[in-house]
Amino acid sequence: MNVPALEATGLGAAYRKKPVLDGIDLAVHRGELTVLIGPNGSGKTTLLKTLGGLLPQSSGEIRLDGRKLNEYSRRERAARLAYLFQESGVPWSFTVEEYIAQGRFFRQGWFGGENAADKQAVRHAIEAAGLDGFVRRPVNEHSGGEYQRVLIARAVAQEAPCLLLDEPAANLDLGYRYRIMELLVSLAKEQGRAVLASLHELGLARLYADKIIVLCKGRIAARGSPEQTLTDGVLKTVFELPEAVRVEFLTRG
Ligand code: ADP
Repeated sequence: MNVPALEATGLGAAYRKKPVLDGIDLAVHRGELTVLIGPNGSGKTTLLKTLGGLLPQSSGEIRLDGRKLNEYSRRERAARLAYLFQESGVPWSFTVEEYIAQGRFFRQGWFGGENAADKQAVRHAIEAAGLDGFVRRPVNEHSGGEYQRVLIARAVAQEAPCLLLDEPAANLDLGYRYRIMELLVSLAKEQGRAVLASLHELGLARLYADKIIVLCKGRIAARGSPEQTLTDGVLKTVFELPEAVRVEFLTRG
């Protein structure tokens, strides 16, 4: 049987004992782009952080490549799981290239030294994120959209088979939003990675997702293909979209 790259069963999470996620069952497979959608506050960031081991779970189980997440060392986990979160602070004086290369240090340990494979992975990630012209500039001199691309490149350079991305298309102008989505598709389809990304634009989710998971108030409200999940009922009850907007969305494409 095809073991999911990442699997959660009965997963719960809480902030200071206030439950935020409850009974989450999901599986993220290699070769697929799975998109997490849901209104603000539905628990998307909390779910991604919990799956990445950055927040403790209050119940349930997470498995990475069939093995419990908490049985991996930090280094073992970094070789298999990369993530991009919104609030990662802007580091001070690193150049774009140095910062992206740090995605590799997590794999090697700080004293592992950079080898040819590391250099190639960094170069590919820079090209894929369209950052060729920016490599020598300090990261903190970049605009929000450029910084977002730096974060994506860093996660790509890590070459982990499983990628978690929180709103990777946020702060990007239209062209780059599509370019980043196409990059995520190619990471899944051409490189066989398992990609789980939260998005707030339903149109992007419909266009690019293999599977969609709809979160509502900390629970899964729907899951399946874009056609199965982006239904009038979900748009109405989960996203509370007015009828005219639902009709526009459902008839446009
Ligand atoms: P989303 O990413 O879908 O907007 P979040 O995972 O950020 O949702 O938030 C889910 C719920 O958890 C919200 O009710 C939010 O207010 C609450 N929450 C998020 N972060 C914290 C925190 N650090 N402490 C307490 N509550 C939090």
